Parts: sequence; structure tokens; C-alpha cells
Amino acid sequence: MIPVKTFAGKDVALFGLGGSGLATAKALVAGGAKVMAWDDNPESVAKAAADGVPTADLRDIDWSVLSAFVLSPGVPLTHPKPHWSVTLARTACVEIIGDVELFVRERRALAPDCPFIAITGTNGKSTTTALIAHILQSAGRDTQLGGNIGRAVLTLDPPKAERYFVVECSSYQIDLAPTLNASAGILLNLTPDHLDRHGTMQHYAEIKERLVAGSDTSIIAVDDSYCALIADHIENGGGKVERISKRQPVAEGFYNDGHRIMRAHMGKTDVLADLNGIPTLKGTHNAQNAAAAIAACLAVGVSADEVRAGLKSFSGLKHRMQPVGRRGNVVFVNDSKATNAEAAEPSLSSYERIYWIAGGLPKEGGIANLAPLFPRIAKAYLIGEAASSFSATLGDAVPYEISGTLDKAVAHAAADAAEDSQDAAILLAPACASFDQYKNFELRGDSFVTHVAGLPGIKMLVEVPQGGQ
Ligand code: ADP
Repeated sequence: MIPVKTFAGKDVALFGLGGSGLATAKALVAGGAKVMAWDDNPESVAKAAADGVPTADLRDIDWSVLSAFVLSPGVPLTHPKPHWSVTLARTACVEIIGDVELFVRERRALAPDCPFIAITGTNGKSTTTALIAHILQSAGRDTQLGGNIGRAVLTLDPPKAERYFVVECSSYQIDLAPTLNASAGILLNLTPDHLDRHGTMQHYAEIKERLVAGSDTSIIAVDDSYCALIADHIENGGGKVERISKRQPVAEGFYNDGHRIMRAHMGKTDVLADLNGIPTLKGTHNAQNAAAAIAACLAVGVSADEVRAGLKSFSGLKHRMQPVGRRGNVVFVNDSKATNAEAAEPSLSSYERIYWIAGGLPKEGGIANLAPLFPRIAKAYLIGEAASSFSATLGDAVPYEISGTLDKAVAHAAADAAEDSQDAAILLAPACASFDQYKNFELRGDSFVTHVAGLPGIKMLVEVPQGGQ
């Protein structure tokens, strides 16, 4: 845990006592702040109190004594409308911050030079964060990984010299971190997302820009117009920008040429890494993630050789285009995190011949925009509530069956693919939320892995989850 000492002896109110909120409250208490914590859910308040966190209804406290108001990133700051606690803080002119801001203040106080890589973007954050942490760990660096992935940032070990922090930041967390100053900040891409919480695309982009604008080195993938503008904007203001692209060469920065990640620097171009044969980094979207990870590691002093070694041994993140098993010429791939058509597109683009398991709780727009990839699909196995609407979209373009459930889909796809003489992938990329049949996408992915593990003659590439079905 990182005890938050920057508020020692001061009064701090906190709202939101879920996982990261409770961790933040404990870190403030451990650092000596006088905390008053609250939540709209009485059970969360009771749990915090039992854990030694002082609680108080924030409607009844004296806001004039507060040094800060700490808000959980899940609680609305601006849209659809500010939470009542935010309105109280604004009326009292108390600054509103979140756990990432507390972390950056502790870092500045304890070890301002310790390497700190912050990652954001609409898609690819977790993969890039995990990849960077893996490269650093395999290069023998003392590495802390957290934020919007894995552990809440204040549960990590405290900043000290030569300790590397790799922190995934959601837009909500950036919105609550006004002095975020990473050594290297990454912005991967921007597509409309979470607009219910940010109002407009412009507001969403402005928030994401803050992460890279505050960094010593701004690493920006310039493949969409929002990110390209942000890169120009920061550079024109005198910032150090490393551009990356998965689509075309850049004059200065990193881009991919097929499998190879190229670096253009001072008029010279070198092959920095080759992703060929790294199954966990398949696809152009992963070339973008890898280029960003490489740029960040180099920016914090990791050598190109260390980066290449780390890339090769990256085992990938669970549920994101993860090869989980192999039987003959068939690979079984878990992309349960592909919860909408946009996220399913990269994995469908990464394999030539696919037995596709799709469906679940449908999202607006369905799978119509995946039509250009339909020729790659040997057969589709449809599950969950979306099965009938997906079958209507597939029509005569793709052979399909309505399997209904994942166990049947895996069994039938495996039987069909076993007859196939070509290399093929059995791909779970549902393009749907999981909630009609599973509690979350992780349990859906675990269930897939468990059913794959039950096939005769299968060679598993990952551990089989306990209790999955
Ligand atoms: P996030 O943490 O931003 O949600 P993940 O790394 O968990 O991103 O990946 C989620 C899904 O998004 C993956 O299943 C993959 O299909 C897709 N994806 C991953 N990286 C990228 C990228 N750079 N660009 C577009 N889509 C991506």
C-alpha cells in the first residue's frame, strides 16, 4: 500500500467505497489524513467502518474545513449529471481529485524521478499496460502494475528510485487527476465511447489529451483524426511527441511494416522488432499496442535488446485474443473481451479461416459492420439472446447454426474444424455482452477454456480455470 502522506493531519472527504474507493480511503487513513468517507450503499459504508475507515454522511459535514474531496472514478463528475457529493464540493470550492492524483502527488514527494508510464486510449489499454510491465519485469526491473487494470494504484508498493510504475488510466481517472505527470504517457486511439459520462466526443478527447500533455514524452498513435490533432497540438506547444502508426510510415517515430515494427529517427529507419511468431501479438491492432509499448520502454531507458526479449515471451492477457489450446491444425482462441462488433473486428481480421462462436446480449448496431470479414468465416456458432438477430445478419453469406450455449458451440465447432484440412481458428469473439448467460466476460472466457480443455487430444496452452463451466 502507498500511505498517502500528502494529506497528513488534513481533513479529507471521500465518496465511493467500492474496491478502489475503499483502498484509497485506507491509504489516506494510513498516511494520517482525517478521513470522512461515504457511499450511497449502506453496506459499503458498514464494510469501510468495520475496516477502520471513519465514515460520515457528507450531507451533514462542515465542507469549509476540507482540504480535498476524493471521488471514486465510477461516480459521475459531470455527466449525465454531477453526483450530489460533487455539487456539495463545488459549492464549497473544495478541489475534487481521485486515486491517480493521490498517487502522482506521493510520487512527486517521494521519488519524482522514478519511471512512471501511464496508458490510455479507447481500446488496447490493458494489453499495452500488461505488455509494458512484462517487458520491464523480464528486463529485471522492479515493476508495479495497476490502476484501471489489476490492483488499484494506491495498493501498489510506494514510489522509490529505480521502481517502475505502469498505470492504466481510464478517462474517469484522468478527469480526476489534474496534475498527472508521467515520464511517458501513451494515447492509443480515440473512438466514441462512454459518451454518456463525457457528454461529447470533444470533451472525451480533451480529457484523454491531458494524460499525454502532462507527460515528459507523449506517445500518440496518430491513426485517428482526434489523436493526430492532439499530437500536433502538444508538439506545437513545445512538448516531446513520439508518433506511432499501425497504418503508414511516420517521419519520426514508430510504425509497422507487416509484422515488423520500424523506428524512424533523425532521417534513419531501423527494424526495431519483429512480431512474426509471437501469437499473443497477432493483428495490426496489436502492432499498435506493441509499438506504443516499445516507445514507452525506450523512453524510460530500457534497451532495444531487452525490449525484443520481453516481446517474445509475452504470454498475453486472458480473454483478449488469447490462444488457449491447439489440436492438430486448429487453434482455439479466447477473445471473450470482444463485447461489441468493433472489438471483435481485430480478431476476425487476424485469422484467415475461422469457426466463429458469437452471441450473448446484443449491442446496438449488431454485427452488420463485420460483413467484410464474413468470407473468412467457415461457419458461425451462435449463442445467447443475439443468436436470432445475428443469424438474420449472416443470412446466406455464412453457414451457421444456433448452438444456444457455449458448451454445444465448442463441441460442434471442434468437430467441424477437425474435418478441415486447412489451418483454422476456433474463435470465441462474441461481439456481445455476456450478461444473458454469464456474470461477466471473464467467466464466459473461463467457461470457453474449460470446455476446450475437455476435448479429447487437446494440447492446452494455458492453465484451466478452477470451477469454470
Ligand atoms: P481496453 O483495456 O482498452 O478495454 P484491451 O487491451 O482489454 O483494451 O482489449 C480489448 C479488446 O479491444 C480486445 O479484445 C481487442 O479486440 C481490441 N483491441 C486491443 N487493442 C486494440 C487497439 N490497439 N486498437 C483497437 N482495438 C484493440
